[in-house]
Amino acid sequence: MKINKSAPVMVTGATGYVAGHLVKTLISEGLTVHATVRDPNNIEKLKYLNDLESQLPGKIKYFKADLLQDGSFDEACKGCELVFHTASPFKLEIKDPQRDLVTPAVNGTQNVLQSINKSKDCKRVVLTSSCASIIGDAIECEGREYTDESNWNETSSLDHQPYSYSKTMAEKAAWEISKGQDQWDLVTINPSLVVGPGINPFGTSESFKLVKQMADGTFKMGAPAFYIGAVDVRDVAIAHYNAGFMPSASGRNIISAENTDMLSLASHLKRKYPTGYPFPKSILPKTIVWLAAPLVGFTRKMIKLNVGYPWNMSNLKSKEELKLEYTPLEKSMTDFFEQMIENNII
Ligand code: NAP
Repeated sequence: MKINKSAPVMVTGATGYVAGHLVKTLISEGLTVHATVRDPNNIEKLKYLNDLESQLPGKIKYFKADLLQDGSFDEACKGCELVFHTASPFKLEIKDPQRDLVTPAVNGTQNVLQSINKSKDCKRVVLTSSCASIIGDAIECEGREYTDESNWNETSSLDHQPYSYSKTMAEKAAWEISKGQDQWDLVTINPSLVVGPGINPFGTSESFKLVKQMADGTFKMGAPAFYIGAVDVRDVAIAHYNAGFMPSASGRNIISAENTDMLSLASHLKRKYPTGYPFPKSILPKTIVWLAAPLVGFTRKMIKLNVGYPWNMSNLKSKEELKLEYTPLEKSMTDFFEQMIENNII
């Protein structure tokens, strides 16, 4: 299966944090991108992509599309042999998990894939899934040397880890739809926490919020022992690109530079900026985190099943099959933070 690079490629949710670097990679290679956005008249939001387009050989054509509207992606996917479906809400503070996360993630994925099936032009779909669809809580890593793509999150629900549930249900829906046809193949990209500077420095993805919180005093008494994986946003873009164009790419792909934790991520910043910011200096005892959880929007169950349990995702497949060479997280974190300082975000 070879993708014709003179045909346009579709990127859903092009104004998003992860999608921004993917669009940049594609137009750097001279490709034409059918970029779907919710509001093509929002000049302020599109200006970062437009600036890139003015400097790079490729082209961006905008299409208005909403995950919640049937047929919304019909026009954008016409003529596209390759589709990157990145759009999906990444929000941790929500009021109604079904309405705010699961419906747009799952119905949105179904909508995009139905449009693709109608167009008959697509040969490959690359879906931005997440490590959240591989495991639900860090406790599930216990007793295993490593966790790989064969694992599925079976524990998240509307009441517990609803974002992870939305990603799991959306990925499952995509695999189900892909099995029912033979026109395109599906490759999923399953990143851990994405960090690094955004194309839009004022991004609203949770990635921005978390890194900002490391420096704004939220964790000045200490950081919870949250073990996570993290990866540079620029590497995530390359992973999508390679998943799209390498004929051998297949299946699910964990994209994660390192297994790390909140305190280590903050310590990359602390080394570069030893004074001036109240970075966390130590780990908060789990009992304190557990007691305080409801005050800061976490459930005690979430703390119980995650804090203190090392995370052990394997990135072997991504290195061997997608040929990824990961950026050190120290660079990702400090580049991200520098961008926040330059833009008065912190
Ligand atoms: P983001 O910047 O908030 O991007 C989310 C994108 O989804 C935005 O472009 C947003 O459009 C779009 N979207 C949301 N609801 C929509 C709707 N109803 N109709 C059309 N578009 C809609 O977050 P991100 O971090 O880049 O996330 C992008 C993808 O990466 C998501 O699938 C997320 O699950 C996945 N991911 C992210 C991380 C991470 O750490 N950041 C890790 C793993 C996986 P607007 O611009 O109009 O709001």
